Amino acid sequence: MKQIFFTPGPAELYFTVKSHLKKALNEQVPSISHRSAQFQSIFQEAEENLRNLLDLPDNYHVFFTGSATEIWERIIQNLVAKRSYHYVNGAFSERFYRIAQELGRSPIVQTAPAGECALVDSSKISADTELIAFTQNETSTGVAHPLKDIYQVRQSHPNAIVAVDAVSTLPYMPLDYTQIDTAYFSVQKGFGLPAGLGVWLVNDRCLAKAEQLVKQQSIGSYHSLPSLLAKAQKHQTPETPNVLGIYLLAKVTGDMLTKGIDVIRNETKFKAGMMYQMLSEHAKFTPFVEKEEHRSKTVIVAETQNHSSKIIEELGQSQLLIGDGYGTFKGKHIRIANFPTHSKEQMILLIDKMSTIL
Ligand SMILES: *Cc1c(COP(=O)(O)O)cnc(C)c1O
Repeated sequence: MKQIFFTPGPAELYFTVKSHLKKALNEQVPSISHRSAQFQSIFQEAEENLRNLLDLPDNYHVFFTGSATEIWERIIQNLVAKRSYHYVNGAFSERFYRIAQELGRSPIVQTAPAGECALVDSSKISADTELIAFTQNETSTGVAHPLKDIYQVRQSHPNAIVAVDAVSTLPYMPLDYTQIDTAYFSVQKGFGLPAGLGVWLVNDRCLAKAEQLVKQQSIGSYHSLPSLLAKAQKHQTPETPNVLGIYLLAKVTGDMLTKGIDVIRNETKFKAGMMYQMLSEHAKFTPFVEKEEHRSKTVIVAETQNHSSKIIEELGQSQLLIGDGYGTFKGKHIRIANFPTHSKEQMILLIDKMSTIL
């Protein structure tokens, strides 16, 4: 029997991927040149579909990288000479902060206690801050940063660039891209695609900053913003990219557009509501994030009174795969992905199984 991956990345593939993959192999997509017209039209299709699906403003560019982890490094190289400010709600946001340190910058961190959301106090952000980093959906703890906090910081610090890690929240979260400067994701979470492709959305302010920075220091090589831009204007990438990944992204975003982003958003809320309700009513589960306004709709984390391995094993016998706690929460938490590919029926099946366990 087929397993259903509710793991928060890699996750269950979008339900149309299998047929697109077959077609890609029939069309020999993995062998085509990344300088061919065929590739340029695949790039263009992926870009246009993403622009429509996410409602990206015209002053945004769409670039492809190897992963979101790579984008962390590129953001620091291209957009920060010295000072970045990081809101940390768990392991992923923390990793970004560490990368800024590893690259020799002087980042400042504002860390929340586990399961809480870092308090936004704009007066703590110094005037020399060049970039402010948010992780909208912290995949390790299930904390979602309220959008109004992010927009408020942008307004109070108009000279800083606001970067949003949207890896495990897109395409669900309706970000207002006019109130941030860059957002990015890997495709193996909410987009339901094989891993190995990062998508970096940047506005003109980011490009201007990189062009200014390159006059005084290295901003990296093949994946610097000016290099990515020069190729993207021709619907190409500097290196030989993950052509198959970009092809599948074009197709799956096309399917999501056909389904409708509003339908995807409503279904996501509905499924999350059902799951949180069961977790709240069940004697042995508690949603890890206490405050409702900080609870993620796409990565749902629960306390299990140290029963997580037993729960994971039992659900596994029914071919339902969920995630263990992240890092120090291994054995204590469970993490459940609620992505666009997970149908209401699949979520109800999981909830039914979980409510009779223990
Ligand atoms: C998974 C994840 C990443 C890293 O993605 P990679 O594809 O492994 O580079 C970064 N941020 C968040 C919030 C994530 O969930």
